[in-house]
Amino acid sequence: MTGKSHGPAFKAKPIDLKHCHVCKGKAVVMGVFHELPCAACHASGWVSADTGEALPPEVLVTQLGLLLNIYQQRLIASGEALRKAWGTDRNYQEGNRLGAGGTNYTGD
Ligand SMILES: [Zn+2]
Repeated sequence: MTGKSHGPAFKAKPIDLKHCHVCKGKAVVMGVFHELPCAACHASGWVSADTGEALPPEVLVTQLGLLLNIYQQRLIASGEALRKAWGTDRNYQEGNRLGAGGTNYTGD
């Protein structure tokens, strides 16, 4: 699929996010008896930095995934010790190295 389409195009590129001002990035707000999911940010704690509004959930999921990837890459770049501390990256690479003979299930 090439070319630009009209309408809401799905773009897997990072959108600037900021902490939700309602829940202050905590994803929950205090209800009468207990904490409730924050309705202003789809209980993510993040909103668009441009509009200050919650992203649609399907966009939000992608954005959080992208941010996690970026964050993880920064951790890797910042040193072996941090990468080991992260844990999941090491497990993932070991899984790949096992290849055909071993278990290489990554959820694909
Ligand atoms: Zn919120």
